[in-house]
Amino acid sequence: MPQTVPAPADASPSGTAAPRQTKPRKVPRVVVLGGGTVGLYTARRLRKRLGKREAAIVVVDPRPYMTYAPFLPETAAGSIDARNVVAPHRRALKGVDVLQGKVSQIHHAERTVEITPEEGEPYWITYDHLVVGLGSVARTLPIPGLAENGIGFKNVEEAIALRNHVLNRIDLASSTWDPELRKRMLTFVFVGGGFAGIEALAEVEDMARVTVKYYKAIEQDELRFVLVEGSPRILPEVSEELGGYTLEQLRKRNIEIHLSTFLSSCVDGHVVLSNKTEFDAETIVWTAGVKANPVLQNSDLPLDQIGRVTTNAKLQVVDADGVVVADAYAAGDCAAVPDLYNPGKFCPPNAQHALREGNHLGDNLARVLRSAEPTEYKHKNIGAVASLGMYKGVAQMFGRIKVRGFLAWVLHRSYHVAAMPTFNRKIRIAAGWTGSILLRREVVALGALHDPRAEFREASVPPKPRVVEPGEKDAAVPAIKAEPASPAKSRQAKSAS
Ligand SMILES: Cc1cc2nc3c(=O)[nH]c(=O)nc-3n(C[C@H](O)[C@H](O)[C@H](O)COP(=O)(O)OP(=O)(O)OC[C@H]3O[C@@H](n4cnc5c(N)ncnc54)[C@H](O)[C@@H]3O)c2cc1C
Repeated sequence: MPQTVPAPADASPSGTAAPRQTKPRKVPRVVVLGGGTVGLYTARRLRKRLGKREAAIVVVDPRPYMTYAPFLPETAAGSIDARNVVAPHRRALKGVDVLQGKVSQIHHAERTVEITPEEGEPYWITYDHLVVGLGSVARTLPIPGLAENGIGFKNVEEAIALRNHVLNRIDLASSTWDPELRKRMLTFVFVGGGFAGIEALAEVEDMARVTVKYYKAIEQDELRFVLVEGSPRILPEVSEELGGYTLEQLRKRNIEIHLSTFLSSCVDGHVVLSNKTEFDAETIVWTAGVKANPVLQNSDLPLDQIGRVTTNAKLQVVDADGVVVADAYAAGDCAAVPDLYNPGKFCPPNAQHALREGNHLGDNLARVLRSAEPTEYKHKNIGAVASLGMYKGVAQMFGRIKVRGFLAWVLHRSYHVAAMPTFNRKIRIAAGWTGSILLRREVVALGALHDPRAEFREASVPPKPRVVEPGEKDAAVPAIKAEPASPAKSRQAKSAS
């Protein structure tokens, strides 16, 4: 079983200087930064290849699970239970130690990393080999109002929050008579027309339309979904033809699309676009691209101009001259990995590559630890599949095969359920889908989830003592007797009685 350890025995508290790994260990320690797609697959493959006497593996991540991001749009739409799109490290990483905390500094020259746990003091751990799989974060811009009013769509917490927020807006809108407030509540803006943005928009819109059928007070045409995309097209991952088909489908669903347009500001939910369109919205979802995890700036590893760790095709970290940095490896969204099928280019930041790079890296490390040469990672893109809501999708396989509608949707589900880590999760997801066909998907908002203590806090406030007027009978809480406000008033009261 994987162990969650507070810290390895040789961990040292964080001070000004990082400790240095001096004596060679009996069993080499591989530290994997990030337990996401790359981290999980690297650690699992390495553990499969090498026994515990050949390598000790430590995975560091602030979350106790790996998230399969391609299923986040379906999670937001309620087609997949949120718990099933994550693979818990404790179950998925057998024979691996898991440290829960954020890597805050990397001093590779000293073979040491600083870990900051959610609670408690930061500490350093040393290693012999390092794997960097720290992924990416949302690439935002300094747009007025965005930080205060926007929400990202990168992790399962955001997918759950978005779902509850959208369903909650529909609930609230159905109970208000203020037309302006209602409009604002029923306007949903998605910024970014890449895969994540289009899938999130299409899935959430589909869910909202199904939900509104249960509300007599809301008409379908009151729902306003808006897509804002800076470039002249959407879905750059597929051909222009399929991108155009998707646009047409979204427009048929009355989704308002602004291409070659930017979000200029959204202060207090007042959205202003670069094409001068203005309106109010309570939901602004930012899906306009990603950038390498910024914690890499706190490291001595070589980075490219956009902050990715530079590697060669063997997934070894290399400097600007291509010289290998000993004992350091990187892959996934945070790494610039050469794409051998497209010379001069890098592998795109997607799960298709991250998953395969993780497995390849596990194999390569096992080779290195057995004194063999690592091999080059080479993967030809097999295509892209996207779900656009229940029974709708687009797919482009092997460059040439273009599929749309129901078949593409089936392809999307089959491909991703096969790629979902752990047999347990595959079965749970498939069982959930079967249940939804028979029982329909659930569209209830659990908005109180985001402040579960609110009711308890309110209940814990001692009730204000009720003032009992003189002569009042049947007082349930006779805590305080009403005192005459002043002697004069008291005299008046007496003479009146
Ligand atoms: C909504 C959405 C939909 C997508 N759909 C598709 C799709 O359909 N097809 C496809 O191929 N790809 C898709 N992707 C992209 C794909 O999910 C990513 O490219 C892939 O997950 C990258 O893997 P990774 O291991 O590099 O990063 P991740 O899987 O993101 O893993 C990074 C890990 O690092 C951890 N971490 C972060 N900071 C720290 C820190 N300081 N210390 C320690 N750990 C840290 C994180 O918690 C996380 O577990 C989608 C992404 C999103 C967001």
